[in-house]
Amino acid sequence: MKRRVVILGATGSIGESAMRVARALPERIEIVGLSGRNNTGRLLELACEFPKAAVCAGDEAAANQLSHDLGRPVLHCEEGLLTLAALPEADLVLMAIVGTTGLKPALHALENEKDLAVASKEILVMAGELVMATAAKMGVRVLPVDSEHNAIFQCLEGQDPSTVKRLILTCSGGPFRKAGAADLASVTPEQALRHPTWSMGRKISVDSATLFNKGLEMIEAKWLFGMPMEQVDVIVHPQSIVHSMVEFLDGSILAQLGSTDMALPIQYALTYPERLTSPCAPLDLTALGKLEFEVPRTDLFPALDLARRAGTAGGTLPAVLNASNEAAVDAFLAGRLSFPGIWESVARAMDEVPFVEHPTLDQLIEADTAARKCL
Ligand code: NDP
Ligand code: MG
Repeated sequence: MKRRVVILGATGSIGESAMRVARALPERIEIVGLSGRNNTGRLLELACEFPKAAVCAGDEAAANQLSHDLGRPVLHCEEGLLTLAALPEADLVLMAIVGTTGLKPALHALENEKDLAVASKEILVMAGELVMATAAKMGVRVLPVDSEHNAIFQCLEGQDPSTVKRLILTCSGGPFRKAGAADLASVTPEQALRHPTWSMGRKISVDSATLFNKGLEMIEAKWLFGMPMEQVDVIVHPQSIVHSMVEFLDGSILAQLGSTDMALPIQYALTYPERLTSPCAPLDLTALGKLEFEVPRTDLFPALDLARRAGTAGGTLPAVLNASNEAAVDAFLAGRLSFPGIWESVARAMDEVPFVEHPTLDQLIEADTAARKCL
């Protein structure tokens, strides 16, 4: 079966990996929509490569320029993202916009009966209950792209959910796995952006260094798989080869392994439930030699405990954690905040922003806005 796919955030790291998958499987994946924001040069190249795709740029001036260069209309801003999310010719929307900008387009895609492949974990942290409920109401799928969740999704196939004891998310430990508290105080953006195993966008690279990425993923797992937080665990695995695991009541643990290439989970989400030949390098376990596992250092990296607290409390707290983290990462990358300042600022926002137990979408957006101001 051929899937007609819209890629929101096509000019980013996930977008580029998705293009590799689409190029390798032209008979199975047709790109019908593309969006980018600042990188208009790359958006132009992609729009030329996929001449039938509808295109959305970050602002009106960029859209006018692109439209002139391409000789076809180009959409822009949130209106444009919403139009792409609901394109009549699309079957599936891949959400790969960093942060929570993609929330409304994601909900709009689901409301228009599109399957949603989610890379943007922030939207599930902010509004996972609403996203999953909308998908259930519309009878469409939410397919995990994040490598850990894609792994768990694969391990759960054909299993009775009531036999699951816990989900075990693996975590590389980031570039400061072996650091001391004193080292963390002076971490620079350049050091934080140097991820040991994955090549990714800037925000998620910093999140991986603070372990907020894993914290966000714990909450993401809760919503994607309908699991209480106490059944979501994290284990450090520096090689990033075991992408995650599921432990069952009988003590069996199923794991999914693969090379560190996002094309693999992206392809599985875009072609689900089929397994097809992929552009990823095969995994040679004998060349690797060993796989290691360690307990995460929650004393040094408070992100995991903060995320567990937010995920357990629910309501607006995950939205506050996510938004304050986004603002803090921006400030850190701009040189306005220290590395430990990221989790200090998240902890403060979680204490200060008023808590709503059963928030509406508007209340989630209000909590998000308030949290960003706590910096
Ligand atoms: P990048 O920063 O590489 O790419 C982000 C994409 O979103 C770009 O296309 C960018 O456009 C676009 N974008 C950014 N801000 C806006 C905005 N306000 N409005 C519209 N478009 C916007 O990020 P990644 O690809 O690394 O990550 C994307 C998402 O996937 C994140 O949520 C991340 O957590 C998640 N993820 C990423 C993984 C990875 O390996 N990279 C792994 C697992 C999850 P432009 O560049 O043109 O400005
Ligand atoms: Mg991940």
